[in-house]
Amino acid sequence: MREKYVMDFHEGSAEMKSLLGGKGANLAEMTRHGLPVPPGFTITTDACRRYYEEDGKLPEGLIDEVALAMKRLEGAKNQTFGGVESAPLLVSVRSGSVHSMPGMMDTILNLGLNDRTVEGLARSSGKPSFAYDCYRRFIQMFGEVVYGIENIYFEQLYHSMKSNTDTDSLDHLPQEDWQTLINQYKKAFASHAGRPFPQDVHEQLELAINAVFRSWNNSRAVVYRRAHRIPDDLGTAVNIQAMVFGNLGDDCGTGVVFTRNPSTGEKGLYGEYLINAQGEDVVAGIRTPLPVSELERSQPETYRQLLATCEQLEKHYRDMQDIEFTVENRKLYLLQTRNGKRTAQASVKIAVDLVHEGILSRTEALLRIETGHLDQLLHRAIDSSATLDVLAKGLPASPGAAAGVAVFDADKAEQWAKAGQKVILIRMETNPDDIHGVIAAEGVLTSRGGMTSHAAVVARGMGKPCVCGCEEIRIEQDAFSVGGQTVKEGDWLSIDGATGRVIRGTVPLTEPEMSAELLELLQWADDIRELKVYTNADNPADASKAREFGAEGIGLCRTEHMFMSAERSPVVQAMILAETAEERAAALQRLLPMQQSDFEGLYRAMSGLPVTIRLLDPPLHEFLPDLEQLQERLSSLDSAFSTGNNEDNRYGEEREELERLIRKVKRLHEANPMLGQRGCRLGIVLPEIYEMQVQAIFQAAITCCSEGIRVIPEIMIPLVGHPRELEILKEMVHREAKRLLAAAGQELPYKVGTMIEVPRAALLSDQIASHADFFSYGTNDLTQMTYGYSRDDAEGKFLAYYVENRILPENPFEVLDTEGVGQLIEMSVNKGRSVKPDLKAGICGEHGGEKNSIFFCHSAGLDYVSCSPYRVPIARLAAAQAAAASKTVAYSG
Ligand code: PEP
Ligand code: MG
Repeated sequence: MREKYVMDFHEGSAEMKSLLGGKGANLAEMTRHGLPVPPGFTITTDACRRYYEEDGKLPEGLIDEVALAMKRLEGAKNQTFGGVESAPLLVSVRSGSVHSMPGMMDTILNLGLNDRTVEGLARSSGKPSFAYDCYRRFIQMFGEVVYGIENIYFEQLYHSMKSNTDTDSLDHLPQEDWQTLINQYKKAFASHAGRPFPQDVHEQLELAINAVFRSWNNSRAVVYRRAHRIPDDLGTAVNIQAMVFGNLGDDCGTGVVFTRNPSTGEKGLYGEYLINAQGEDVVAGIRTPLPVSELERSQPETYRQLLATCEQLEKHYRDMQDIEFTVENRKLYLLQTRNGKRTAQASVKIAVDLVHEGILSRTEALLRIETGHLDQLLHRAIDSSATLDVLAKGLPASPGAAAGVAVFDADKAEQWAKAGQKVILIRMETNPDDIHGVIAAEGVLTSRGGMTSHAAVVARGMGKPCVCGCEEIRIEQDAFSVGGQTVKEGDWLSIDGATGRVIRGTVPLTEPEMSAELLELLQWADDIRELKVYTNADNPADASKAREFGAEGIGLCRTEHMFMSAERSPVVQAMILAETAEERAAALQRLLPMQQSDFEGLYRAMSGLPVTIRLLDPPLHEFLPDLEQLQERLSSLDSAFSTGNNEDNRYGEEREELERLIRKVKRLHEANPMLGQRGCRLGIVLPEIYEMQVQAIFQAAITCCSEGIRVIPEIMIPLVGHPRELEILKEMVHREAKRLLAAAGQELPYKVGTMIEVPRAALLSDQIASHADFFSYGTNDLTQMTYGYSRDDAEGKFLAYYVENRILPENPFEVLDTEGVGQLIEMSVNKGRSVKPDLKAGICGEHGGEKNSIFFCHSAGLDYVSCSPYRVPIARLAAAQAAAASKTVAYSG
């Protein structure tokens, strides 16, 4: 039997999202529960996929099914599609994909109007102006969606008719003038579409269905899918629904409400309402709407009904809902419900509140939070003590502070951002065509539109600061003016999406604070996660911050960072440039107390927790000046001498010193430093450096222990590829430790382990494990060496192309390549534990703070992940989600 492409609302349910799209499935669900949804039906996503398989042809039989469904709709409404005797049946045709893509695809309202049916609508409503206004809107929307005719051609006609009348609206326009306007619209349509406006309502419907399918692949939808990682082959459903009218007069209107505040998460109806307006007016941000409390004032009974319905929907879906509704002559209709997009702050508060309200379990709440959302919460806000040059205030649509230069055009925003400039995108109202500019910008500012306008919804979804409806500012082409001041393209501007402030210049920012709800949620995460969360930190401030965020130790201290300060680098350079063993020993003796104090700082910050210290990793030339710069210095010294400008007569001495440096830098030069003399190779060839570091580690430990601090040092050897490398260095560590601890008369448990970041080490992990107390996967290098990519070159050159063209699913330096690199890790853990069952294993590459990679670490049986301080809360949550997800699978399996 042939597939069925059409389902009436009462046949579907919320579970059928992939077939009916989110909107269709939820309309069906609401219909099943007896809520006031205008009747209609959904064309499935299967039909859309088939449409694309057949190169843009509607699948066979679809139109017949639609015709039958329209007949049923006529019966339900007691109206005729194309009927002229009484009120004609009019429908909306709306897209609706599985994932909500607000405003990215197309919608047509009032379909079914033509020169004859409009008269029926005028008669039956008793409001000719309303009927003609619907017809005018329909011609415009149909022209735009089906034939790509720009709105401006119609808007011009509308405004010039309006300027010829005395009043603000066209409500009392005489019938002849309406007729003139409609004729002008049809003319504009014909001249741009190259055909007359279709009078046959069935043809209108068929063209509209085609156009909605096509809109799945319009450029803004494609960009949105890329940004949100939505697959391209899902297709959209089409919802065809009997029209209800919010524009029939002042006891009508249309609105969008959230059941909780989508910015803060506070419970209570939150939204906007436009009196005497039609559907798209609210979301399109064309008029700035009133708060929904306006409905409570003007129609208390309808408001109470809306409130009760919203509560019912929230309980049913067990989540905050974003609801579109229309009031037609005081009667409430629901046009859509979906889980509302929300800010990070709201997302945490809502999930925690729903647990307290008994609606969700703790595990469900944890699984609800996107890890990316926590990322935003841990970002900065404007320092409240700063003096700000506040230019204007708009609606606080999406929190967070952003600064950038003012740009008034989405294309330019994209270009400038690509060139490395931070930009704030400023528009009168963003429309979905601006999506690429929104993605590129640090934040978005609009002068029109409410909290549910596209700019607001899209920015919130992306976690970008947004201020909208800032009506004080007057936007001209490349500038805006406010209170006698002007901000031009390229001027620095800041916005505060939490308060709506628009500020001239850049602003000082403060560190984020964790809300009570977030702390509670993370506590629940700690209760169920199995992975420990460590941090990568090389100084006491970072270590303390990480501990505040819940880190349970340091998983990686990159000691080379301690060698790079202005104070230390001359000593480090002297050590590298030493010509004799004595000279080198002297320089190392000067470095020793510095290193010791570094480690004491870390031990104090992490008292009672493990501190993993990696011995020096990079090649030595990284600590020396750049060869080209040295050569430039030499030639400017020479030219100063030849022009007699060398006043202190130290030319000869200086020249000799420079030449010595150049010789040394040249000697240390390597063709492939990443694969050269670095890590343990350096430690074996020049053992004095590692010996100094080990002495510093233990002397610091001895000092801290005497202060009562519990010290747990773990010494980590980088870049091991052969077991013998680890064996040699492990013996050196034990020898030094024994000597120093014995001299201090102290006992101290410590560990010696290795990074696994060279594929050979992963392959020989059983042999390596016999010398190691722990393994730490250095997935940055392991990815480089498994793929054979040098990260800096790959990211600068071909990797973006690879990801954009789907040659690789992700950047493997951001999201762990579980298939390749992950295979090595799994094999390595298993081999390592086959010789040492209690071998501690973790990850310390950048992947340690990324959700999918953490899921992998959980399933591979690692003991811990280690990540940068600000990612610690994300790692705690992701580790809990991984544990919860694996339990769910285990139970259901
Ligand atoms: C790694 O290679 O993953 C690692 C942590 O070391 P680094 O990034 O310092 O090379
Ligand atoms: Mg490394």
